[in-house]
Parts: sequence; C-alpha cells; structure tokens
Amino acid sequence: MHGRRADVALARPHRRLLELADWLTPAFYIDFGRPCNSACLYCAVPPHEDAQGFLPIAEVEAIVDAGARCGCDRAILIGGEPTIYPHLPQVWKTLAAAGLSRHIAMTNGLRLADPAMAAQFVQGGVGTVHLSIDTWDTNTYDRLSRSTGKLGVQMAALRNVLREPALHLYLYTATTALNAAGLPALLRGLCDEAQRAGVEPPPVVLAVVKPLGDALRHADALLLAPEVAADHVRAAVRLGDELGVAVGHRNLQACLAPDLVDRNVDYYLDDFSVEVATGLRLPFSHGEYWYKLPGCGACGHRDLCTGLYRETARRSGEACYRPMGRDGLA
Ligand code: SF4
Repeated sequence: MHGRRADVALARPHRRLLELADWLTPAFYIDFGRPCNSACLYCAVPPHEDAQGFLPIAEVEAIVDAGARCGCDRAILIGGEPTIYPHLPQVWKTLAAAGLSRHIAMTNGLRLADPAMAAQFVQGGVGTVHLSIDTWDTNTYDRLSRSTGKLGVQMAALRNVLREPALHLYLYTATTALNAAGLPALLRGLCDEAQRAGVEPPPVVLAVVKPLGDALRHADALLLAPEVAADHVRAAVRLGDELGVAVGHRNLQACLAPDLVDRNVDYYLDDFSVEVATGLRLPFSHGEYWYKLPGCGACGHRDLCTGLYRETARRSGEACYRPMGRDGLA
C-alpha cells in the first residue's frame, strides 16, 4: 500500500509533490492482472510472463475489504492495464459500497482517448489519473510501445483528462536510454497542452527504468548508467522549473543526485505491504530486487533510501554510490 507519511522528512518539500502525495495516499492496490492493450519494451510485469489473465471479479470484494481494514480510503487500480478490465462497473459499485472514493488509475491512457471512459472514471470515483507518457516523438513511442501509430491516441487521452476538472493528473514517464534525450520536448509539449486546456501543467514523475521483467530482457537498449540518468533528471527538473512543471523522480538514489533529494517522490510516500490478518507491516514487496552496500549503513539517507538495483549495479558498478550526509533532510 501507499501510506501517508505523517511528516515528510525533507527540509524543503516541493508544494506540488506534497499535493501529489496527498492525491495518492492512503491507498491499497487492486491488481487486475497482466492483460494489457500495449506492449511496453520496459514493462516490469509483462503479460507474456503470466497466463493467469484478469483478476477474477469474485476476489475484488475481499481485496477492497482488506484495504479498508488497513486504513486506506482509496484504491489504486493497476494491471496490466486497468481500463480494459471487463468488470469495471462492478468494481465501482464494490468500492462505493465500502465508502471509498478518490481512487487512482494507473493507465497507459489509450482507452481514455474516448471521452466516455474519462466520464466513467469520474462516475466510478476515480480522483487521480496516473498517465504513462514517455515521449512526444512518434518513432520513440512506436519503439517503446512495440506498436505503430498510437501516440496520437495517447495525446487525445491527455487532452481529455486535462479538460476534466474532476480528475487530478500526473504524468509518469519511464526514463530510459531511448527517450531520455526527448524529455525536454515532452515537458514543452505538456506545457503547450496544459495552456490550451487553460490549466496548470500537471506534475511529471520521471521513473528511471527498473531492470525487471522486459526491461531486464532489453537492458542493453534501455538502461542508463546511474550518473547519466541523474544528469537527464537534473536537466528535466531545471527545465521544469523554468516552465512551471513540477518534475519529480523515482529510482534515483540520493547519493547520485544530492541536489534532487527534494524531488524524490518515494520520500513523500510510505510504501509497504501489510499482513491483513494481523495488521503488521511486511517489507515492501520489491525488496528482493534491491540491496545496500556496507557503506550505506553510514549514510544519512539510509532509512529512506531503498538501495541499489542489483542488475544496474552489476552493469555499472558500485563506485558511484557513496555514503553522504543528511543533505536535503529536515
Ligand atoms: S543509502 Fe547507499 S545507495 Fe542510498 S543514498 Fe546512501 S550511499 Fe547511496
């Protein structure tokens, strides 16, 4: 679940990222299974790795009940692609019956090009759209999505959501070697669209790609060396500041970019798993892919930092991860 941090540990938290954390928490996940209408090259949970199909609708009520019992007041709808789940009307009813609202839908947006889908989101209680947009460039989109000619569909979705006042929106941008150079164009294009819609540009979260699933299979094409990823994120943060776009990041350790600590979205959230029967916290389920160096124990960020992804460190080495002080922390 995404817990709400009682107090964000940053010296100067960013107003828009605090707001984003407010939209996202406290929430539990409903994972509808891996079926998807796209085929992202970097997908951490690719459909072809799992033949289970969609989550049976009969299981949704128990998941919602467990989430509510753990203190969450909203759900995160995730897949695969949640907008293609065939039982969404029943999901909306189950969530409403539990008294939950302001849900978050994590989507590639393709179905939101239909205004009726955006309306269904609002009626179903969705409050926030996490829209995965990685690029403004047609060829890069085709390469990353392993499809042809769908960027315009995603752009239509973006316009629909920007013009829907009942929906909060943020962009989630997988940051890879294929699209990193295009981040400035993405930020400028986003600003233009927001201006046309007459709204403030939505926040953008740059998620440095994790070497899992298909991203691991295509690591040679996708992975950025840690310092290179930091440079791209830093340039995007600066440009975002000029343009009035709040740019945050994920999967970029503080020691790689001490100047960007206040933009680390993970520092605004409290991700953990819960044993429903006891209410006890369990380690966050992604923990198996991370590790820490002996020196991390002396680092001022050790309690907030998740550590290093094993495959990234195997490829790029560990030398760039050096313990630091409490830079950026309160
Ligand atoms: S805990 Fe380790 S990986 Fe994390 S910021 Fe500190 S030195 Fe870097």
